Amino acid sequence: MNAEKIMQIFADTAYVRTGGSDAELKAAEYLKQCCADMGLNAEIVPFEVPMAKISKAVFEADGVEIPCKGYLCAGSHEVEAPLYYLTNTDSYSKSLVKGKIVLLETGLGYWTFRDLIENGAAGFITFDGNANYADRDIDQKELRSFVSKGDKLPGVNINAKDAIQLINKDVKTVKITLEQEEYTGESRNVILDMPGEIPETVVFTAHYDSTSLSQGAYDNMSGAIGLLGLIEYFKDHPHRYGLRFIFTGSEERGLLGSKAYCAANEEALKDIMFCINIDMIGSIMGKFIACCTSEIDLVHYVAYMGLEKGFGVHAYQDVYSSDSTPFADKGIPAISFARSAPGNTATIHNSYDTVAVMKAEHMVKDIDFITAFTDRMVNAVRCPVKREMPDNMKDKLDKYLLRKR
Ligand SMILES: [Zn+2]
Repeated sequence: MNAEKIMQIFADTAYVRTGGSDAELKAAEYLKQCCADMGLNAEIVPFEVPMAKISKAVFEADGVEIPCKGYLCAGSHEVEAPLYYLTNTDSYSKSLVKGKIVLLETGLGYWTFRDLIENGAAGFITFDGNANYADRDIDQKELRSFVSKGDKLPGVNINAKDAIQLINKDVKTVKITLEQEEYTGESRNVILDMPGEIPETVVFTAHYDSTSLSQGAYDNMSGAIGLLGLIEYFKDHPHRYGLRFIFTGSEERGLLGSKAYCAANEEALKDIMFCINIDMIGSIMGKFIACCTSEIDLVHYVAYMGLEKGFGVHAYQDVYSSDSTPFADKGIPAISFARSAPGNTATIHNSYDTVAVMKAEHMVKDIDFITAFTDRMVNAVRCPVKREMPDNMKDKLDKYLLRKR
């Protein structure tokens, strides 16, 4: 994958493509075409996702309207209640949410939502953006189905500048009016198979969807280009293992594409020996990391390989918040590659994630290292990474996948 091709793909895909949208489908068709241009036939595989269309979202603070976006899939409501700012999550602070609309500091995670429900909150407010940015962007959030588990609560997302003012001005009463239609829609994975000499397979994942404000160049068209780079290489190079490339949809909505794949292919997972995931590479700034959800030996292997190749890499053992995780949860060892940029040099999930934070030469170098690593794995006499999950990773997976607090 050369620099010119890389920049062309970034240019062709410089649009918002949230999971389940028509724009996501357009990007899926584009990736399928990229494979077709290499003479390979990828398949677009749809899966169901919850969708909603909001017709009204109004947020008022002591009678003054504040710009907001209503939470998708949170139901329709009209609720007025005292404002409560939940700064801490100790049991005393949480006991005060009863009957209040709660300004959350933390975003709406699973345990936060459960706490709100259990303690009788009337609604919630989250905020994002940055007090020091010139824009007043507001990200479109949703109440994820694996968070709500059927419980609904009215919620809005506002800009951080307005959240600060709610507290600074001692706002007493807030009101949320939310009207929406909820339905089941379709997102999709784009899957390309390259059979090997043996039935055992290595699976590759990279999500191509974005969040609502983002062109998702860094997060994660960069990873999708990484997969295209691997495809381009291995179509002309031998591989003992079969290769399955999955460009996943709706990762940003809670790994929905990789979860859907794992749920629909229980039997096929038995032949998958290893998962290689790419989520955010090739940025101008940042360090290269390899997060291994596997036995510790892989960490040492990658670190040695970095030294051998003269390529800086920080390898460590952990669960990575990306599409590798549903596979790891099925006992498939996984590695996630990323070039992790400091937040003050490249941010994600906002309108600043564009090609402006990318560097084609870094893309080429990162893809080259991932290709060299992959070449060894897929031509191994036997995949050296044990196909089992150590106990410390099982514990982390339980927490990440919300089975344990
Ligand atoms: Zn990502």
